[in-house]
Amino acid sequence: MIAHVDSHAPLEACGLLAGLNSKVETVLEVTNQAQSAVRFVMDPIEQLKAFEWIDSNGQELIGIFHSHPTGPETVSPTDIAQAAYAVVHVILAPTENGAWHARGFWINGGAYDEVTLQVS
Ligand SMILES: [Zn+2]
Repeated sequence: MIAHVDSHAPLEACGLLAGLNSKVETVLEVTNQAQSAVRFVMDPIEQLKAFEWIDSNGQELIGIFHSHPTGPETVSPTDIAQAAYAVVHVILAPTENGAWHARGFWINGGAYDEVTLQVS
């Protein structure tokens, strides 16, 4: 996930997180069709293929991740407006020392709550 967003910065990068029982097993990278530094649109064909892969491998969609190469560290109004799936939204943003930091958010009904991401 970090390598993917890092290689696309300063453009936003995005992808899906799949697994079981809220535990991520697979990171599926998806091309940001918008090729933008401030928003992302998942390539619909790649997204469909990723969903098919998740299904055929007996996993579930757990989260959607994307980067904010120029911040903020939290979900943007656009993210809230475009949230189409009831999953955790992981935002990756660079910290002051240049390393990427991931935070998770649950977006619901125009509002959001932060969720704790556990890295094992
Ligand atoms: Zn965003």
